[in-house]
Amino acid sequence: MTQRNVVLLGGPGAGKGTQAERIVADYALPHISTGDMLRDAVARGTEMGRAAQQYMESGRLVPDEVVIGVVRDRLAEPDAAEGFLLDGFPRTVPQAEALDAMLAEAGRAITHVVLIDVPAEELVQRIAGRRSCAVCGKIYNVTYDPPKVDGVCDVDGGELTQRTDDNEETVRNRIAVYEQQTAPLVGYYTDKGVLESAFGGGKAPDEVYEQVGQILAS
Ligand SMILES: [Zn+2]
Repeated sequence: MTQRNVVLLGGPGAGKGTQAERIVADYALPHISTGDMLRDAVARGTEMGRAAQQYMESGRLVPDEVVIGVVRDRLAEPDAAEGFLLDGFPRTVPQAEALDAMLAEAGRAITHVVLIDVPAEELVQRIAGRRSCAVCGKIYNVTYDPPKVDGVCDVDGGELTQRTDDNEETVRNRIAVYEQQTAPLVGYYTDKGVLESAFGGGKAPDEVYEQVGQILAS
């Protein structure tokens, strides 16, 4: 069986989560997200989990060697033997190099890097335009999926509010950080010949997934 060792890249608001759910369902791959994995390692009390916990509890960034140790443990689990989908890792070129080195030790390599490519300006509109109903939690977007009446939920007339960390300035910062970190990663994987982009600008999740399917079939 061909291994599908996949890395998913995409900015905040690019719809990575939706694509990841569909990929793992259709290709029977474990969805390996660093955040979930760190929480799981902590819960299971593994050596790396205990190391990560010390950093997380003091609000510090978990250092690369700890994150990489947690990823190594996770990729050694039987369900990842035929492939995996990595989401949220690697974030930097040194992490990508460490990942390649650890896979090479096991005679494996990353086979596909899928970049969900959405223009920065659209990411800002997607996130900064998000509003949610204070009553039922339904999510709207002032540009892409507006309610019938400004600021009011279609379902129950509840007030629509914006999460404080979704304001435009914060969102622009998050996207700038993402682009700064990811641009070198895109170059790294392009040089390795494993990166392909699915263009998500102005596209519905189904249309993006069609492109993702073509990439993973190759
Ligand atoms: Zn509502």
